[in-house]
Amino acid sequence: MADAALSPKIEPDKAEMRCKWCSGLVKRRHPKARYCSEKCKQRYRNFNRSIEDGYWPKEMQGPRPPTRCPECSVIFERTDPKKVYCTERCSCRAWRKTDVGREYFARNEVQERLRLSARRYSNSEKGKLAQRERDSRPHNVKRREEWSKSDHGRKVKAECQRRRASERALSLLLLPTQQTPEL
Ligand SMILES: [Zn+2]
Ligand SMILES: [Zn+2]
Repeated sequence: MADAALSPKIEPDKAEMRCKWCSGLVKRRHPKARYCSEKCKQRYRNFNRSIEDGYWPKEMQGPRPPTRCPECSVIFERTDPKKVYCTERCSCRAWRKTDVGREYFARNEVQERLRLSARRYSNSEKGKLAQRERDSRPHNVKRREEWSKSDHGRKVKAECQRRRASERALSLLLLPTQQTPEL
């Protein structure tokens, strides 16, 4: 028959093929056609390629698998497949440990800048508050008590008292009209 000769390989159940990208009807020009158009074919391929490159459509794939930060061991969800550390802070810390980072932080001007910013922070209200908070932790209170009872702690304490006493005496000598600083 003429009809059968024109489309010999298309079986009736496969005759209605849906486009893999847009689910539109595929008008088959050859039996292996899977897309309605060349455009859909390209879109489908681009989509798959971007998935390989790390694109993660959550509505299709759910959340990314959790990752452990190699620096602080926190479990976090990546926003980017190339992301290794949970935060910028952790990535900086890790970089400091590399050869390049160590070299950079060993430089005098960098050390000086770090010292300055640390001093500025500890003198700021925020820094003072953080220090008070650390000091009041039970663990630190206990350690301070133990330290002040140790030989070294007693020595430092005595040294401190001596210094204060001599400062007091000196201020009396130098500024006889002023009152003794109360301590
Ligand atoms: Zn299509
Ligand atoms: Zn981290």
